Amino acid sequence: MAPTTQSHTHPIAAPGTFPGFTGPDAPSDDDLYKCVHCGFCLNACPTYLETGLEMESPRGRLALMKGVAEGRLAMTESVVGHWDMCLQCRACEVACPSGVPYGRLMEATRAEIETGFKRPLRERIGRKIGYENVLTSPKRLRWVGRAAKLYRKTGAQTVARKTGLLGILPGDQQHLDESLPELSDNFFVADGQVISAEGQRRAKVAMLAGCVMTLTHAPALEAAVRVLSRNGVEVHLSPNQGCCGALNAHAGELESARQMARRNIDSFLTAMPDAVIVASAGCGSTMKDYAELLHDDPLYLEKAERIASLTKDIHEFLIELGLRAPKASLDYTVTYQDACHLINAQRITAAPRQVLDAIPGLKRVEMPEGNVCCGSAGTYSITQKEMSLRLGNRKAANIKSTGAQIVATGNPGCALQMTSAFKRDGTDIQVRYVVELLDEAYSKETV
Ligand code: SF4
Ligand code: SF4
Repeated sequence: MAPTTQSHTHPIAAPGTFPGFTGPDAPSDDDLYKCVHCGFCLNACPTYLETGLEMESPRGRLALMKGVAEGRLAMTESVVGHWDMCLQCRACEVACPSGVPYGRLMEATRAEIETGFKRPLRERIGRKIGYENVLTSPKRLRWVGRAAKLYRKTGAQTVARKTGLLGILPGDQQHLDESLPELSDNFFVADGQVISAEGQRRAKVAMLAGCVMTLTHAPALEAAVRVLSRNGVEVHLSPNQGCCGALNAHAGELESARQMARRNIDSFLTAMPDAVIVASAGCGSTMKDYAELLHDDPLYLEKAERIASLTKDIHEFLIELGLRAPKASLDYTVTYQDACHLINAQRITAAPRQVLDAIPGLKRVEMPEGNVCCGSAGTYSITQKEMSLRLGNRKAANIKSTGAQIVATGNPGCALQMTSAFKRDGTDIQVRYVVELLDEAYSKETV
């Protein structure tokens, strides 16, 4: 879409008119004033590509941050709306020649929103339950998962849809209902299991199970464990671990994100691992930033630095270790989807492709606009339905144009987003994890 002029204007007052950013996690001036307004980031930004609006671009959002920081702008619903529309995909960071740490700035800004702006009551209740009560507890998360299964299995979902009940309940219950993902038959639970290495042990690792992925993609986590073991790696699913805190941190819920990080740090350190392996791009990116998240915590900073430096994305780890190439072949045409938190945040592009290329018979094709976010972005698909749908459809069209039978990824959010985009238009392209394909090739060796 061609850029159009911006539709929103924000009245600018004299500096110091409004309170500005006041919380402990406010964006730093050093970060804010790195931007030189060159605009190189604009065409890397998915929301700018879709709308053509300056205020839906990185530069526009940064201008709003500066306006609020200087007290020239109030943190109004409209200002917050532009920030909320950001996917935190960090494509702008890669495009920026001035090194603006956009991800860090947006995380800090979101923390400010939560202290200086009153969201509608329904949203505040939803956030309290979701971020503070459910994501912080793997047990409660599994209860929610079981309840969602019951909602489907007992026919309650059909009744709610047919009777129009969803339409009369407060909030967009229909969208929530439509967003309910398919859940795995058995959830993945990390409870202190140790899976031994096949053959001679080459490494000992702790592995993050995570949150949503344990409910929606348990078979992919099981495949990750088998693949590691097959590569001579002893895997510790250390007890008392939980969600990495990424969803909370991205939403500005930094205190609960810090609690989650501390819990995981303690859990992983019990295994005394050579590396901490993550099979989800978003979680790996957050864990590599644990030291930054806990920079003000003297008790945990050193431990956080240790875990951050040990954290490896599973594809990155396998390639660095020296991947054992499977002998059996897979006759598939596959396109690889770069998750934003691998390509932009962790800057990992080659390793997942190298893993796929190591599978005999597999033909890999690239998709157009591979670096444009699929629109999943954590809870974005729920909170920013329209933009998320647009970007999901855009990604699905790009994938379809490759003629691939399978799209492979390394992130649960992307997998869910692509699955629902294909479901909407009846496309039968499979969505698989890279490690699932590798696992399948290994499994054929023994048949
Ligand atoms: S993080 Fe992504 S959506 Fe947000 S401004 Fe940057 S490029 Fe745009
Ligand atoms: S590319 Fe960087 S310096 Fe240029 S406008 Fe975007 S954020 Fe600012």
